[in-house]
Amino acid sequence: MPRYDYRCHSCGATFELNRPMSQANAPAVCPAGHEDVTKLMSMVAVTGSAAGGGAAPQAGGGGGGGCCGGGCCG
Ligand SMILES: [Zn+2]
Repeated sequence: MPRYDYRCHSCGATFELNRPMSQANAPAVCPAGHEDVTKLMSMVAVTGSAAGGGAAPQAGGGGGGGCCGGGCCG
């Protein structure tokens, strides 16, 4: 069962709840009884894939000045 982190806006406390994913967005209650609680982003592994990550800009990719961007090519 996944664990979710919550933060209480009333007292600033953070707490964790184990609940099924179907209840992930269900209202939570602070251990102190406050209901102004926001679900925090859990520690999801967001790691950029090093292999094959094609996010690097290429030189001369067109646009933003240069010859082909100014109309001299067409
Ligand atoms: Zn609270």
